[in-house]
Amino acid sequence: MALFGGKPSAKKGDMFYAWTNDQEIAKKAECGGAVTTLLKYALEKKIVDAVLVVKRGQDVYDAVPTLVTDPKDLKDTAGSLHCGSLLMAKPAVKILERNKGMKLGMTTKGCDVMAIQEYAKRKKVDLNNLLLIGVNCGGTVSPVAARKMIKEKFEVDPDTVHKEEIDKGQFIIEYQGGHKGIKIDDLEDSGYGRRTNCRRCLYKVPRQADLACGNWGVIGDKAGKATFVEVCSDKGADLLSKAIKDGALNAEAPDPKGLDMRGKVEGAMIKLGEKWRKRDFEVLSKDLFGTIQRETSRCIKCYSCIENCPVCSPSAEKLKGKLYMVKPGEVPPNPMFHMRRFAHISDSCINCGQCEELCAMDIPLAKFSHAIRVEADSAFEPKLGKSVYSN
Ligand SMILES: Cc1cc2nc3c(=O)[nH]c(=O)nc-3n(C[C@H](O)[C@H](O)[C@H](O)COP(=O)(O)OP(=O)(O)OC[C@H]3O[C@@H](n4cnc5c(N)ncnc54)[C@H](O)[C@@H]3O)c2cc1C
Repeated sequence: MALFGGKPSAKKGDMFYAWTNDQEIAKKAECGGAVTTLLKYALEKKIVDAVLVVKRGQDVYDAVPTLVTDPKDLKDTAGSLHCGSLLMAKPAVKILERNKGMKLGMTTKGCDVMAIQEYAKRKKVDLNNLLLIGVNCGGTVSPVAARKMIKEKFEVDPDTVHKEEIDKGQFIIEYQGGHKGIKIDDLEDSGYGRRTNCRRCLYKVPRQADLACGNWGVIGDKAGKATFVEVCSDKGADLLSKAIKDGALNAEAPDPKGLDMRGKVEGAMIKLGEKWRKRDFEVLSKDLFGTIQRETSRCIKCYSCIENCPVCSPSAEKLKGKLYMVKPGEVPPNPMFHMRRFAHISDSCINCGQCEELCAMDIPLAKFSHAIRVEADSAFEPKLGKSVYSN
């Protein structure tokens, strides 16, 4: 970390505690408001033409992807919505396809960053037009499941909840008349909690974004008031340095104990993800193809899994009637309908869970394609020596 005019300047690999100088953002932000402030700064300085973020809609379960062009509107988008199980990469690519040459800033969870990389490999998006402000992500809770969990486990009317947060391993709600927190481990052991694909995710700190921002590692008097920022690219370093130099953000070196703690929490979350992989895949491995056949027999062939997959997105219209070995008009379709899709996507499946989340028949599609992906990867990972199914 270098200094200019007494203020820190950033380079790739640096880490900071950062907090906003904008009082309106500070009030609404999840931590130090660094994410919203950096996006606002990028918009004001015309580093980007627009910003894609998530805004609270009707209630805490309603996360709405929002395109912002007026920097003043960004304050309303601060804060984390843990029931926002969206994949932001998909609208981002649509926006860029329709607005050639547009420079877009956006908030990205790990799955968004992986999806953007997949789109870039397929030349659907030019990374030079994107500014990716990553947020660490321990996982999201599906909105429908969240309402059920709050009613059954918290014994609270989900319509009375006005705030939710995840802190120190607990899912915490604030509602009319009080607040309650339950350990996520306990919720998940009884079938609630994060989406199953998020539990299996090992990509908690999105280091392929330009900056990776989170709350892990912020301790002492800055706890809850600063954002932990890891600088992951020269573009990220440049943005952060300029925002600090122009007084939009304050920053200081992280507490070494906090740094150590952040590494430990990340490590523990990765271990937990591995545990979930083992648990989910071991059951599947006993009868993978039988399970796929049984589960997909509910399929109504709505094509949502195809339309919403970031690595397999031919137009459903184009596909209709053109799948050899699958007779048109049959519901449920012949299992080859799904087998072909798995064969086509599973080597690039990023485990974003959109196929499963948006499946009208609740078929655990993400588990199948993720299991096939991990199984295939293990063949190229001599370190593991054997398949994840059996280790
Ligand atoms: C679902 C989720 C899980 C998280 N889990 C962890 C974690 O386990 N550990 C950790 O260190 N940090 C986690 N974070 C990051 C942390 O909550 C803060 O977002 C981060 O510290 C930045 O704080 P800030 O005050 O600078 O952000 P703010 O200035 O408040 O900005 C937050 C940004 O996140 C966007 N956003 C809100 N909800 C979503 C969503 N569902 N999907 C995509 N973007 C969204 C907002 O639009 C806004 O741009 C998580 C964030 C989210 C969204």
